[in-house]
Amino acid sequence: MTYQTIYPYTNEVLATFEDATELDLETALTNGHLLYKKWRKNDLLAQRKEQLQQIAQLLRRDIDYYAEVLTKDMGKLFTEAKGEIALCADIADYYAEKAETFLKPRKLEEVHGQAYYVKQATGVLIAVEPWNFPFYQIMRVFAPNFMVGNPIILKHASICPKSAQAFEELVTEANVETGAFKNLFLSYDLVGKAIADPRVVGVCLTGSERGGASIAQVAGANLKKTSMELGGNDAFIILEDADFDLLAETILFARLYNAGQVCTSSKRFIVVGKENYQRFVELVVEKFKSAKWGDPMDPITTLAPLSSAAAKKQVLEQIQLAKEHGATIVYGNEAIDHPGNFVMPTVLTNITKDNPIYNQEIFGPVASIYQVDSEEEAIELANDSSYGLGGTVFSKDLTHAKAVAEKIETGMTFINSGWASHPELPFGGIKNSGYGRELSELGFDTFVNEHLVFVP
Ligand code: NDP
Repeated sequence: MTYQTIYPYTNEVLATFEDATELDLETALTNGHLLYKKWRKNDLLAQRKEQLQQIAQLLRRDIDYYAEVLTKDMGKLFTEAKGEIALCADIADYYAEKAETFLKPRKLEEVHGQAYYVKQATGVLIAVEPWNFPFYQIMRVFAPNFMVGNPIILKHASICPKSAQAFEELVTEANVETGAFKNLFLSYDLVGKAIADPRVVGVCLTGSERGGASIAQVAGANLKKTSMELGGNDAFIILEDADFDLLAETILFARLYNAGQVCTSSKRFIVVGKENYQRFVELVVEKFKSAKWGDPMDPITTLAPLSSAAAKKQVLEQIQLAKEHGATIVYGNEAIDHPGNFVMPTVLTNITKDNPIYNQEIFGPVASIYQVDSEEEAIELANDSSYGLGGTVFSKDLTHAKAVAEKIETGMTFINSGWASHPELPFGGIKNSGYGRELSELGFDTFVNEHLVFVP
């Protein structure tokens, strides 16, 4: 039994779940495939629209209930969990509203004869999701594919089983047909079997490079399409004319939101110019000092525990590794005397290229700050990473900031703000941060069959 809710604030085991059996998987595959066939005959789009809107309403009605499930599973602040549930409701509404437009047949111009393509469902998908946004990660995949007509079988992270179960209950409460969404507490072995099954047409994964590579390998061996949202080591470039008042408002969200456990949170701060560098280090230290660790259910807490004891151990080891290889710990890293998985917000400087931490993602409340002498150097340093997820450019000159943004080798760059995710904005990266996009129309199209109809 590997699926457990262990409350990160107390490390108490709150719930334990039995692993799914082969029979559970077979039932889910049968139900999913039957429903795909039914939707293929009669797409029932209007019915699905109503059901997805109902899901949005239930999320808004029961926001406190769902938010507490998330907090108890992986420790995030209750206030942030509420934000996540609200965003899930928005994503559901967005796809309910937009699907008809997205699914309209597209006429191809300048062809010999008549040609158009229709976007059609392809079949059952396996969604392998991480714990850091236990509902949002599911909704990003479920909402578009539900409207497309692709049923989902979920394999959620083993540390957030209550969230997986609550999502299934939510879908059931909205009277969605059996087979449209099924959570299974699958072993890795059964995930592999599911991917190999001919009724499964694709896999989407959000998680680590290690997890992504092993799933992509199985999928590749079975010729199944994949979409991968992996880690990041996002650069946050502070140009010489950056607005420090706005920076002061942005820093805590950019780095400490979700205790720093966001794939696209700003992890490497790159400051152009010595004076700005000094000023920025002081600003980050001052802001980090104001973070208040404590009970994640308490609204005055601003720093949550990390999601597990293992996550805390890993972050502390990475800080140590950075230090052993010459980095300076300017602030933080003191032990917190509490059974929860807390790590003090920490600021690292003097990270040289030969420091192993230079190209490691730190999934916790740790900011690495670099000083460079020119914009070109900043861009070069930002791009000198095996990751390519997101990034930020800070400058008062928007035109200039946009030009710099376009030189950053990532899937997303945000100007004068930390990271962002909205239903209508595509989300995803390049290089070892993965491939494919979620959300927006691009995410909607990931697992559709663009079916050509041609009259010569
Ligand atoms: P993991 O890759 O370990 O886990 C993610 C999911 O994959 C979990 O459900 C996990 O299951 C499952 N999994 C991992 N390996 C396998 C396998 N071989 N077979 C089947 N399932 C597998 O990632 P973390 O939990 O460490 O998540 C954090 C990582 O995810 C960070 O690197 C972060 O940057 C990245 N991430 C990326 C995001 C993006 O949108 N680009 C968003 C959020 C996080 P189990 O829990 O049972 O091990």
